[in-house]
Amino acid sequence: MSKTDKIQGVRGMNDVLPADEAYWRRLEDVVADSMRGYGYQRIRTPIVEQTRLFVRGIGEVTDIVEKEMYSFTDALNGEQLTLRPECTAGVVRAAIEHNLTYDGPRRLWYSGPMFRHERPQKGRYRQFHQVGAEAMGFTGPDADAEVILLCQRLWDDLGLVGVQLEINSLGQAHERRAHRDALIAYLEANAGQLDEDARRRLHSNPLRILDTKNPAMQALVEGAPKLIGFLGEESLAHFDGLQALLRAQNLPYRINPRLVRGLDYYNLSVFEWVVDGLTICGGGRYDPLVEMLGGKPTPACGFALGVERVIELMRRAEPELAESLCDVYVVHQGAQAGVAALQAAERLRDSGLDVVMHCGGGSFKSQFRKADASGAFAAVVLGDDEVAAGEATVKWLRADDGAAGSGQQQRVPLERVAEVIIGFVQDEG
Ligand code: ATP
Ligand code: MG
Repeated sequence: MSKTDKIQGVRGMNDVLPADEAYWRRLEDVVADSMRGYGYQRIRTPIVEQTRLFVRGIGEVTDIVEKEMYSFTDALNGEQLTLRPECTAGVVRAAIEHNLTYDGPRRLWYSGPMFRHERPQKGRYRQFHQVGAEAMGFTGPDADAEVILLCQRLWDDLGLVGVQLEINSLGQAHERRAHRDALIAYLEANAGQLDEDARRRLHSNPLRILDTKNPAMQALVEGAPKLIGFLGEESLAHFDGLQALLRAQNLPYRINPRLVRGLDYYNLSVFEWVVDGLTICGGGRYDPLVEMLGGKPTPACGFALGVERVIELMRRAEPELAESLCDVYVVHQGAQAGVAALQAAERLRDSGLDVVMHCGGGSFKSQFRKADASGAFAAVVLGDDEVAAGEATVKWLRADDGAAGSGQQQRVPLERVAEVIIGFVQDEG
């Protein structure tokens, strides 16, 4: 290996390049607006947390804790730390630590990178991003319905189509235990049909077996005892309540009895949003978690969406989304014009316009090529002629910019350039 070898990024961890920025920015804007629209406040927790937080909060026998966490020992003080694989545990930790629910319920949201050591493939990465919301302190199904409506609004505002809601109820722990006993008995009676993964999980996490993607086990799983049959009156009332609210909002959903979610802390409602068999968002209620992490018992529900998967759908819905580099591109030639151009660019920025000033010289022709490629709607041109007259030429670049038309130009006194360009933007509405 030589000292000048190319050093590459880490497998499964992506660069988000400027070409994709338009999608990321739209998603971030829509998310921030929608969260505000429902009274959610943003919280930013650290990317690194104590490993114990996830082991306790997510559950020891989950995929994440068993094999997906980036954990390490802090070389300086021996602490066991982990790059967050999800954010709910961190948000709940922070809410407890800072007593955020002391004066009543609290709605929080977050956005940021998560880390899971999975096999990278399309839509599955080792660093990926999630946006999520957590409603803490609410017991009733109205809170569950509200986070679901918030998701639906996100899909609508992002222009996604075909996103389908699946829901289920996981009941309470004692109901799941009764179901689990029945499930283990059923699976043991059919042990010959279990694959290796299922045999390993039979006693540790049999519920997860229902989530198997192995085609050979589908019939077995289909015939397994269903949790819904083990739910008591209160759990059923909560589930019915949620469904009544969704129906009242004309929000279509499908009950998927096999929807179990990967994380241990869920109870009652769980849901996923699915497009063509791919899950883009999952959530539900996790009433036990706050107490499990050392807080006062506080019911809660929320969701997390996978940003990369959502952006892939945005791209499908709108393949051409692109941002222009700037509003105005400044073209200039000659030493004096260079000084005037730098000044003109600053004045234009003072007026709120996004300006790229050409740097590095070159012919007018090559500079105009760059101006066109930048997506700017106007070029400001400064040559010796213009500078001598204390003027600039404003050239309108886009054919679709109505009245002015592409290629049209006008001479304008230097001090009026910003005014003329802004007047044009306002006329165009
Ligand atoms: P899957 O079954 O696809 O592994 P999950 O149940 O592990 O998903 P959650 O922990 O519920 O996923 O995370 C919520 C969302 O985050 C998922 O619906 C998905 O959109 C996204 N997500 C999860 N893991 C990844 C990953 N490795 N790469 C990209 N996105 C991911
Ligand atoms: Mg997973």
